Amino acid sequence: MVSSKYTVLEDDWDTILVLNIWESSDDASEQRNGASTGRQIRVKVSPKHLMIASPVFKAMLNSKFKEGKGLADGFAEVSLPDDNPEMLVILLNIIHGFSRRVPRILDLDDLLEAAILVDKYDLHEAVEVFSEMWIRHLEGSLPTTYCDDVICWMCISSVFRHSPILKAMTKLAWKLAIGPICNEGDLPIPAEVITKLDEAREETLREIFEALENDFSQYYIHNIQCSTYCDAIALGVMGHELNAMNLLDDDLKRPYVGFSVKGVLDQISSSRFLKLECYRYSFDIGEERKRCANSLDRTAMTKLIDVLRDDFGGLSFDLPEPDDHHVIVIQ
Ligand SMILES: [Zn+2]
Repeated sequence: MVSSKYTVLEDDWDTILVLNIWESSDDASEQRNGASTGRQIRVKVSPKHLMIASPVFKAMLNSKFKEGKGLADGFAEVSLPDDNPEMLVILLNIIHGFSRRVPRILDLDDLLEAAILVDKYDLHEAVEVFSEMWIRHLEGSLPTTYCDDVICWMCISSVFRHSPILKAMTKLAWKLAIGPICNEGDLPIPAEVITKLDEAREETLREIFEALENDFSQYYIHNIQCSTYCDAIALGVMGHELNAMNLLDDDLKRPYVGFSVKGVLDQISSSRFLKLECYRYSFDIGEERKRCANSLDRTAMTKLIDVLRDDFGGLSFDLPEPDDHHVIVIQ
């Protein structure tokens, strides 16, 4: 059963925008029969306001397709069944200047819906004052762990060009993601953001693994670091711990699925092979243990870990230009 509602933004205007929403039936028998109820929202809008606010609507209504031809005849009906109708009505109220009808607060799901439609219809400038207000209300509750909300915020901050949030979210993802960034909902996040973020994460992990491999492989060349005993113990401890961290697998390669930058750095920092004492004297001549090349003061490795913890500052937009929506730089 379909019910219909007709919302008039202004009687004098002559374009009717038809929005469709379909809701699942609460009736169990209808669900079993595959039937569904729904409601159709019809909104009468001003074509001039739409065309001024949105180059996408402008192209649509100026086109030689049926919408544009209909408008030339004084009446056009446009069906937008794929859009979130409630959010589109909010954006239409903004476009038509009915600010008092626009909510001052949105939850994260609604803000994401707004971002999707703003990107689709290129309404960035038209909604800027409201989007800043909506973001300001939610930015105190940004995620601190890597979860779906991080991807949502990457989308929101990309669409609304909010560099501080984009920077924070991309840095969080770089540090905590255990694989390539997954934009499952195909949200409007610039491909460049995801590509650069994945590259940054993989490059940091590559540097870590290469440093460990160089440290480990020194025991397979013939240079004795300290003594046979001391080298053997260092090799054993390092091999045991690298194996426990799954870092000796032959198939350890990009995109390093299962490894996060923070996880690997934390494991190395707490590993025994960074804290070994020299065993040469205790085994060979019974003297007090001292430091040696194997005692793994590992200054270089420790410094590298510290540097890599802040290796990536996150992505941000470069200085915005009016017609430049997708320039991203790594800072
Ligand atoms: Zn030693």
